[in-house]
Amino acid sequence: MAFAQETDESIATPDVLIVGTGLAGLGMAVKLAEAGHRDFVILEKAGEVGGTWRENTYPGCACDVASVMYSYSFAPNRNWSRMYAEQPEILDYIKHVVKERDLEPHIRFHTEVTSYEFDEAADRWHVRTRSGQEYRPRIVVLAHGALHQPNVPDLPGMDRFKGELFHSAQWDHSVDLRGKRVAVIGTGSSAVQFIPRIAGVAAHVDVFQRNAHWVLPKADRPLKHLERRLFASLPFVQRLYRLAAYWTHELPVLAFLNPKYLGVLELAAKRTLEKQVPDPELRAKLTPTYRIGCKRILLTNDYFPALQRPDVSLTTSGIEEFTESGIRTKDGELHEADVVILATGFSTDNRCASEHIVGRGGLTIQEAWRDGMTAHLGTTVAGFPNLFMLMGPNSGGGAQSILFVIEAQVHYIVECLKLMRSRRATRLEVRAEVQQRFNDWLHAKLSGSVWNSGGCHSWFLDHRGVNRQSWPGTGTSYWRATRRPDPQAFLLTQGGADRSR
Ligand SMILES: Cc1cc2nc3c(=O)[nH]c(=O)nc-3n(C[C@H](O)[C@H](O)[C@H](O)COP(=O)(O)OP(=O)(O)OC[C@H]3O[C@@H](n4cnc5c(N)ncnc54)[C@H](O)[C@@H]3O)c2cc1C
Repeated sequence: MAFAQETDESIATPDVLIVGTGLAGLGMAVKLAEAGHRDFVILEKAGEVGGTWRENTYPGCACDVASVMYSYSFAPNRNWSRMYAEQPEILDYIKHVVKERDLEPHIRFHTEVTSYEFDEAADRWHVRTRSGQEYRPRIVVLAHGALHQPNVPDLPGMDRFKGELFHSAQWDHSVDLRGKRVAVIGTGSSAVQFIPRIAGVAAHVDVFQRNAHWVLPKADRPLKHLERRLFASLPFVQRLYRLAAYWTHELPVLAFLNPKYLGVLELAAKRTLEKQVPDPELRAKLTPTYRIGCKRILLTNDYFPALQRPDVSLTTSGIEEFTESGIRTKDGELHEADVVILATGFSTDNRCASEHIVGRGGLTIQEAWRDGMTAHLGTTVAGFPNLFMLMGPNSGGGAQSILFVIEAQVHYIVECLKLMRSRRATRLEVRAEVQQRFNDWLHAKLSGSVWNSGGCHSWFLDHRGVNRQSWPGTGTSYWRATRRPDPQAFLLTQGGADRSR
């Protein structure tokens, strides 16, 4: 691709361009501003901030890490109403941060990025949007979400179905479920949150389960008036709650990495099942066949009780096909439905599969990732200079709040920008051999983890069975790894001249 040399007034040339106004992109913006960067824009394809928390509006949508941990450490929310906040409150929190940190002037809404090409002569990216605008930033930060593209399964006869059909991440609020026969496909994190809310509203809810999930009780409750007053007046009290929540999320990871210690968690989950589900037949259907932690553990108090209502049934015989009026299972039974809700998660296999990202020497992200997604510390990819990712490959998983990981990455990126400035480098690119060594280490460490060897196929694994999501350690170890970028890990150049030393 040849690039025009003359400066076009209509082309914006921000120093840093961030894509996405979810928690990752906004966190990046706050920390850039704090580090003294003023010249940045944030492009957002939607008309509002919030990402995940703007899009997922299904009944009961809530976080499954404690609210005190599901907020930025630099912007604690003193007003959480519950131990685990629901979607409207999280979205309000995000909007509050945008207002408080005066980020809105930096955001360009309804601006969907369609391509990124690196201009090697100028050491700048050419970024194009769907509406034809062009940006030429020095740095690009991709914060376009890891759980953003709803996964819509290709089930036989789906287009034949005459009723309403939507994905839980695109909840159709115009569909009134009252008195309807509702089929729910999937029993993961979203399903267990909304099934108890629609049970009793719909005439009947048919839940189609492919695999049973491990369930643990959710320590959710409204925060007491006194607790909220203490949070507001004595910040260290909230910091103590946060510390407790941090370690509650951190400790299970040690067992996920050493599955021989999973017994205690499995015992607790089995007790929960025994206590909440007295019927041995239903209990058998709800008993997982893999080790706990292999898939994300579901935290809920009202899912098992909902399944035992007379107007809710659990079907495990597998879906054969859709008909015009419902779903036929492999045992030949037809389950009539007016509405089908897909609770089938998100496409995570190769989140840049359809992105036009062209790096150094014409390398496309598809070529770079032909054997699967890889990056260095989940943030930089060899062949793609001056481009950073948030929530990139192998930086999540675990049980820790994603916000903790995002903050570590944001810090790392700001440090990389400082490194570039101190070396007067116009280009920073992770060395291919460093990325390779890092990935060899990472996958060796993951091989013994429950995510890889626990006997399930979760969304952490790609279609080849390689784990492309999990960090092979605790949140603390990721935090440590991202404190200071190692200058030796990068090619740092200015106009081709080596600035690495
Ligand atoms: C229902 C649900 C519950 C969750 N609960 C938890 C939880 O309890 N704890 C936890 O740790 N994690 C949870 N997660 C994971 C969650 O995705 C992250 O915690 C976090 O919200 C992700 O933020 P993000 O900014 O990386 O991505 P997103 O929130 O997905 O934001 C990405 C943004 O980028 C925009 N965008 C995408 N492509 C483009 C483009 N080409 N051009 C312009 N803009 C673009 C999108 O419109 C979106 O606004 C949950 C996820 C879901 C779906």
